[in-house]
Parts: sequence; structure tokens; C-alpha cells
Amino acid sequence: MRVREILKKLYCSKCNAVKEVNHLRGLFLEVKIENENFIKKCEEQAKKIFHETITAVPHSFLDRSVPSLYHIEINSQCNLKCKLCGAGNISALQVQNGIMNLDYFRIIIEKIKNENSDAIILPFGNSEPFLNKNIYDYIKIIKNSGLRCTLSSNVNIFSNIERTLMLEPDTFIISISGFTQDIYSVAHRGGDINIVKKNMKMISDIKYKNNLKTNVIVNYHLYNYNWKEDFDAAKKWVEELGFVFAPNCARSISMEMTLQYVRQLEKKRGASSSELPFSIELPQSFYDGLESLIVRPDDIFDMYEHVPSAIICPFANFETYIRSDGSVQLCGCCSDKRLVLAPKYLHVSHEDIQRRRRWHPFCEVCLRTKTYLYFNMVDFQKWDSMVKMRLQGVPSDRLLCGGA
Ligand code: SF4
Ligand code: SF4
Repeated sequence: MRVREILKKLYCSKCNAVKEVNHLRGLFLEVKIENENFIKKCEEQAKKIFHETITAVPHSFLDRSVPSLYHIEINSQCNLKCKLCGAGNISALQVQNGIMNLDYFRIIIEKIKNENSDAIILPFGNSEPFLNKNIYDYIKIIKNSGLRCTLSSNVNIFSNIERTLMLEPDTFIISISGFTQDIYSVAHRGGDINIVKKNMKMISDIKYKNNLKTNVIVNYHLYNYNWKEDFDAAKKWVEELGFVFAPNCARSISMEMTLQYVRQLEKKRGASSSELPFSIELPQSFYDGLESLIVRPDDIFDMYEHVPSAIICPFANFETYIRSDGSVQLCGCCSDKRLVLAPKYLHVSHEDIQRRRRWHPFCEVCLRTKTYLYFNMVDFQKWDSMVKMRLQGVPSDRLLCGGA
């Protein structure tokens, strides 16, 4: 089929909107349509889908022509092995680990500053930033540039914590999944909750002694086994420390493994659509992790039945993920080096990155199966209703919308 014919099929003759085109997506891959008008319409459709749903991402992020968030991996490894994360299952993926060169990091920050002076820098990927012993120097470069900085850590390990905090990163996110070791270590494999508590206390003391403006948010990952006593104890402790307690329904967070799994489900349902560009042998730990989820990738098909299919990813424009070697990764939730879009961020424009991502076969499967909606927790109310259905009598403070 020629491009002109495809385009003709894509538009509704009455309203000129882009139609639902699941069955035609495979053809996009062959012809890699670069018709400006078509792309614009697809982008408008993506924004519409986004605006009409409730998500974890502020809507203003999507209305920009440049990304709002930049993940920069100052270190690519993690000290823990969470079952549903790429960093916890590196043997299943092709991952190249390293530490970003400080001078290179400085130049990247300059480029970002020129691209978007409002950008938020997240100096980590699927990794623990404090494994880079010189973290202070990296945060200092971000703060000196005037860009905002969001740190995230499992706080099992620290380098230069006091000096780093004194730079006042704008936000510091700490992730936990329990208050006792037995519960915490189920998801945070290899972690020690007693060290975490000690380090959280240290952060609180530094913050309040120095009157630091850093907003510390503790993200409590909610599973089907940790929502009772451990939740209450963790909440009390976090509030006593003067941090924000933010419960969050846990999900499968490795895009490669999740898509492989969803593709398997799709096949079981009889779909003969296109394959992923490479297949992954899913480790047993991944399947074990799925058993603890309240909302599983299996739920995507029913949960998002009502959302129209997007042709272009509604989330493609809002973040850029730069690996420790300076390459650009397809998406913030991927770790596999086969999903690198460009070998050097410094040599490509944002438009180039978008073009390379646009008809990517991996995104094709992600969009077709609506896995991108699950990943970005689209429609909080839908998530809450799943939680209420599966955790009988769950109190409203465990929900994303607080029961509203
Ligand atoms: S989820 Fe976070 S703490 Fe766990 S392995 Fe992945 S990067 Fe590390
Ligand atoms: S992998 Fe999915 S979420 Fe990521 S950019 Fe592609 S379509 Fe979007």
C-alpha cells in the first residue's frame, strides 16, 4: 500500500481526525511516514488521549515542544535487585554499565539548559545515584546551571550525603516497600530496612538542622502483602521525620520484560500482530514479582479497553533518558542497549530523537497493547478501583486519589 493510500484511510472524512488504526500500524513501520501534517495530527491525538485521562504526569509537561524531564545516568548500576526492575534482572537483558564522565556531564547540562531552561534533571536511570562516589560534584553542576534537580535513592548506601544535601536538590525521592525487614526485603531484594531507617533519620536531621528547602518524598510501593501493619508504621515514621508520605501502587517497571510478557499474553489471546524487535527470556524472579502486584500487566487489556489507541506515544515528548556513556535510550523505563536511539546525545537534536522514536518497532507493540498507559499509571481512579476490588476493606489512605 502506498503512503497516500494509508493517509487516506487514516483520516475521518467528516471531522478530519485521525482514526483508530491498530490494523494499519504495521504498515507505518514499513513506510516510516514523515508527512508533516500526518505527524501533527497524530501528536494532537496523543495529547487528546493524555488530556482526557488522569495520570501521574502534570498535563503542562505534554504541551511543551521540548522535554521537561531529563534522566541522566551518572551511574548505571544498582545495589539492589528488585524483581520487576531491569536493574534487578540484568542477566535477562543486554546492559552496559558505567559511570558518566564529569566533564561530559557538564557539557550535557549546558546543552539541556540551551534546549529548555525550565528542565528538571534526574541524575539517575534505572540505577542508584549514590553508587557514584562523586555525586556531590554532579549535583553541584546541576544547581550551578540553575536547572532543577530531583534525586531518587533507595538510601541503602550513601556517599557524601551531608555535602550533597547542603546543595539543596529540589526534590529527594526515597522508595520503600515495608517497615520490617521481612516485608521490605520481598520487593527491595538485597536491601536492609534498618540501614534505610538510619539513613532517613540522618536526612531528616540534616534537612531540619540546616533549614533546607529540599522536598523529601517517601514513595511507599503498595503490594498485595504490605498494605496493613507495615504501611501504618511506615506512614507514622515518615511523618515524624517531617517528610511527605506518598503511597503508590507498585507496577512492573522494566518496559522490556513487561512488553515481552504482554506480547506473550497477546499471543495466547490469538493476536498475530507484529513481534518485538528482540525477545527476552523472562526470569523466574519476574514471574515471582508479578504475583505480588495488585494491578498486573494482565489487567491492561480490560482496564484500557475504552482508551483509543495512540499512533504516537503521548509520553514521548516529555522526557529524555541519557545513559552513562552519553547515548540516548528509547524510553525512561528501558535498560537494554538494543534500545538505544542515538549513540551520542550531544550530536542529536530533540527533533532527531523524536524522529528516531516515532515508528520504533518496540513502541509499536507498546502502543498497540496500551502498555504505555499502564506504565504511566493512566487513570488513577481506575487503579484505585482495582485496588479496592482486590484488597478487601483497604483504607482510603492507601489509594492514589485518597478515596475521592
Ligand atoms: S527499582 Fe530502584 S532500587 Fe530496585 S533495583 Fe531498580 S533501580 Fe534499584
Ligand atoms: S516504549 Fe512505550 S512508553 Fe516508551 S516511548 Fe515507546 S511507546 Fe512510549
